[in-house]
Amino acid sequence: MNLIIFGPPGAGKGTQADFIVNKFNLYQLSTGKILRNEIKNKTKLGEEISTIINSGTLVSDDIVKKLVKNFISDNKYKGRLIFDGYPRNLIQAKTLNELLSKYNQKIDLVLKLSVSLETIKKRISERRSLENRADDSEVIAIKRYNTYEKTTEPLIDYYKKLNLLKVIDGERSIDQINKEISDIIALI
Ligand code: AMP
Repeated sequence: MNLIIFGPPGAGKGTQADFIVNKFNLYQLSTGKILRNEIKNKTKLGEEISTIINSGTLVSDDIVKKLVKNFISDNKYKGRLIFDGYPRNLIQAKTLNELLSKYNQKIDLVLKLSVSLETIKKRISERRSLENRADDSEVIAIKRYNTYEKTTEPLIDYYKKLNLLKVIDGERSIDQINKEISDIIALI
């Protein structure tokens, strides 16, 4: 089973993806984490993208396509991927479809964590003190939220039409959300 986890920054995607990975023996493909590692390791790509990431906008579709292709084409991850932070716009969603069908795979489920802006601000400010992410400052966090609303949220409709979407109330406790997600996955 391959699944996508959607939600605005601070919605708890990473926390839930960790849980699903452990419980169902899947692999979390977080494009954001991979990109941040490139910056941390001071690679050529890292240098290229650090200004973009730190300003809260999206890196180019081609760059993320290459990253994602590496995983989809690798048999080790076949049918075991949780896409966290990808796709983020319609072009990426279509690219993902093409890549998956090229390697005889598909998306089986799309989970959307629904959370209010107030909760997001609170969670990001808590995360700021724990993780020290350069793009978690209040100003950039709001910019990232706006990018999400404008370019990523419209994808929800795309997946709804494909009958793959489940919306989860992300305001509840981590355990309650874990339980709902487990029940949904168990039925697939
Ligand atoms: P995230 O950890 O998912 O919040 O991603 C952090 C940042 O990495 C985003 O604000 C973007 O600048 C960049 N990024 C991550 N995934 C993508 C993607 N699929 N397309 C473009 N940029 C991305």
